[in-house]
Amino acid sequence: MKSLRILMLALFALFAVTLSAQKPNVYVLATGGTIAGSGTSSVSTNYTAGQVAIGTLLDAVPQIKDIANVVGEQVVRIGSQDMDDATWLLLAKRINELQASDSVDAVVVTHGTDTMEETAFFLNLTVGGTKPVVMVGAMRPSTALSADGPLNLYNAVVTAVSPASVGKGVLVVMNGRIYGADGVVKMHTTNVDAFGAPNSGALGYVLNGKAVYEASPKRPGGRPMFNVSGVDELPKVGIAYGHAGVSPDVVESMIKNRYRGIVYAGVGNGNIHKNLFAALEEARRKGIIVVRSSRIVSGPTSLENEVDDEHYQFVASQLLGPAKARVLLMLALTQTDDWRKIQSYFNLF
Ligand code: ASP
Repeated sequence: MKSLRILMLALFALFAVTLSAQKPNVYVLATGGTIAGSGTSSVSTNYTAGQVAIGTLLDAVPQIKDIANVVGEQVVRIGSQDMDDATWLLLAKRINELQASDSVDAVVVTHGTDTMEETAFFLNLTVGGTKPVVMVGAMRPSTALSADGPLNLYNAVVTAVSPASVGKGVLVVMNGRIYGADGVVKMHTTNVDAFGAPNSGALGYVLNGKAVYEASPKRPGGRPMFNVSGVDELPKVGIAYGHAGVSPDVVESMIKNRYRGIVYAGVGNGNIHKNLFAALEEARRKGIIVVRSSRIVSGPTSLENEVDDEHYQFVASQLLGPAKARVLLMLALTQTDDWRKIQSYFNLF
């Protein structure tokens, strides 16, 4: 009788081990943000981002264990308003290691929403491999009524383990939608439905534990545009914001402080106010790369419209807004100072 019980237990253990071996292995890299935020009240928006450790976040969603074997790693614990180049490089290198590891099938990155689109874009340009990489955050802290973090996290893991997510590049999953890193933009400061992709639309959605794709990203994942394995620092690139009556002070200060690139968040189709045209020309004469982008959230900043880009050697950002144009310019400057070559990178978007 006793030996029968031991046999049954052994069989059960073997069954459990086989089942968990069959589940995909998802590695969760945690960086903080509102998804890990904690407040003193469940009904107010007053809270501090990045307080809750990844183990606690995962424990709050036990359903995840039914679909994946999950390992959490706390990379940093910050509000993403404090994101920086060093953390981007750290994340890219860590995800490239995980892409190469036999024991990892997919990666999820928990992140604040403020700069999520920049980090997603940076990783999409620097991470190789076809394993899914899914970024996720929340608009409400973990202590809020109807916190959106737990379902967002579950949906992110659902997306990460879906075979349909393989080779799609870095994805962002928020509020039941799946976005590609190149197109995703934060569109609302406080609403749970905060993200959109105004130029390309969402790639798909997650419903009832299933990721459904309706479109593919324009640039497939797998081949990183930039290899950052030997890069420890990124070139200094700043953004100058265009508006009526703008002064050249910000551009002049970037020239003085030896920035290697300036993104001008112009009006309309990246148009430049006469007050600072001369300063941008001066920047270019000094070898600084000038990228025209737009403060408008949709549509391209296209070449040779109201500005003679060929003449001034200005680069047009195409469908990249100023924040993402800055990311691409920093990475491009690790390779070249040739404005035509840099324009060719932007023409991919
Ligand atoms: N400030 C927060 C952050 O980006 C906002 C959020 O996560 O929603 O970390």
